[in-house]
Amino acid sequence: MADMSFETIWTDTLSLIEKELGEDEYAMWFSGLKFSRADDKSITVRAATKFLKDQLTHKDYISYIETKFHEISGKNIELDIETGGKTTGKLGTGRGEVKTGDKPAPAIHKKEKQANPHLRPEFNFDTFVETANNTFVINAANAISKNPGLAYNPFLIFGGVGLGKTHLMQAIGNYIYSHTDLTVICVTAEEFTNEFIEYVGAHTGKNRMKEFTNKYRHADVLLIDDIHLFSTNAKDTVNELFYTFEALRKANKQMVFTCDRPVQELKNLTERLVSRISQGLTVEINPPSYEGRIAILKRKLFDKQKTVPEEIIELIARNVSSNVRDLEGALEKIIAYNDLVGQAITLEIAQQQLKDILSPIKQVNITLDLLLRVVADYFALSINDLKGKKKSQTIVLPRQLGMYIARQITEYSTTEVGEYFGGRDHSTVISACNKIAERKKADP
Ligand code: ADP
Ligand code: MG
Repeated sequence: MADMSFETIWTDTLSLIEKELGEDEYAMWFSGLKFSRADDKSITVRAATKFLKDQLTHKDYISYIETKFHEISGKNIELDIETGGKTTGKLGTGRGEVKTGDKPAPAIHKKEKQANPHLRPEFNFDTFVETANNTFVINAANAISKNPGLAYNPFLIFGGVGLGKTHLMQAIGNYIYSHTDLTVICVTAEEFTNEFIEYVGAHTGKNRMKEFTNKYRHADVLLIDDIHLFSTNAKDTVNELFYTFEALRKANKQMVFTCDRPVQELKNLTERLVSRISQGLTVEINPPSYEGRIAILKRKLFDKQKTVPEEIIELIARNVSSNVRDLEGALEKIIAYNDLVGQAITLEIAQQQLKDILSPIKQVNITLDLLLRVVADYFALSINDLKGKKKSQTIVLPRQLGMYIARQITEYSTTEVGEYFGGRDHSTVISACNKIAERKKADP
């Protein structure tokens, strides 16, 4: 028998994988791969997105595919994956132009399009700051925007309040809406429920159910926000959601959901719906780190064309760590004060303005200035004594005590504290803290 062609090996491998892993897993990870070329010992395929390539590598699907090559052909064939360029096949089904690449391209205005009333234009990829903690979810959202219905369907973003779930979901909607002619519907769970109740019209006596199903089951892209808020009592609504889901899934229409917990923990949805959703791609969105918070604050200031002193940005970033909405709220408050009073805001004023937001546990709203003043007053010294170079015991002990207290009750780093105490090194601060801690044991 003549040698199998490499392209045949590839298609046979795909069929084998589909049989082994099942339709859903196959559709999610393998349908976006297209045969590109081959030489004696390797097959090169093209992934629809870089995200897909990264995920295949990350999940170790590559060696899995290579074992299948061997099973099919009896040869050791390596798999190479490339990205970019034009993909053929299911991608770009004509209606919506599909792009590949890493970042969404700027919107092409084929014709002047009216704003989509369901979407807030400011929630787009451009205004969403990438931080170390959200790279994965952003990449997934980008991949979906460029290959709606084909990349990862359904897609669920879950995480705590104010972390950017709605923003990112709408960014997908905005991207698709401005780059294609696809119909994008974006609603909250509550809106979906209310609309369902209204159309079914128990109170009006008019059953306009058909209109409802026409609208939702013929959407190209359906985005539903906060699916944990479907009421446990709204059984009919949830059933209707399930049928909508099934219709859209069969037609390869993209669905994106957000919710505040892992989907398995949703008690308000039926088991079958939960199980369908968990077959898609589910990604958690995490709170940003300190550096991420600084980056977000700076970006917001840039967008609003405002400036605020660095130390105030740091004050906010240090204290508001749980969610981005509160971070924005704190910044808004400072900006509003600035605008109203019309003068540059000082750290003291900022602390005053933000006192109900600032963390009550770590008293970081105590500035080093204030702390030093208290210590100096207590020992009847001057601030300059504490910051200065004098080495007499009457000054060294209070100085060390000041450093120790600063480390205990503020979140300033040893470097920052050292810098403040007359430009000393962080190791000086560490050794001061150790000395005081030692002494405390003997002298409470
Ligand atoms: P959620 O839906 O998770 O409760 P939202 O999407 O409403 O949160 O986000 C809350 C606010 O924080 C919005 O104004 C949003 O623009 C902003 N936000 C969240 N994450 C980011 C980010 N990474 N970059 C820029 N803004 C963000
Ligand atoms: Mg939200």
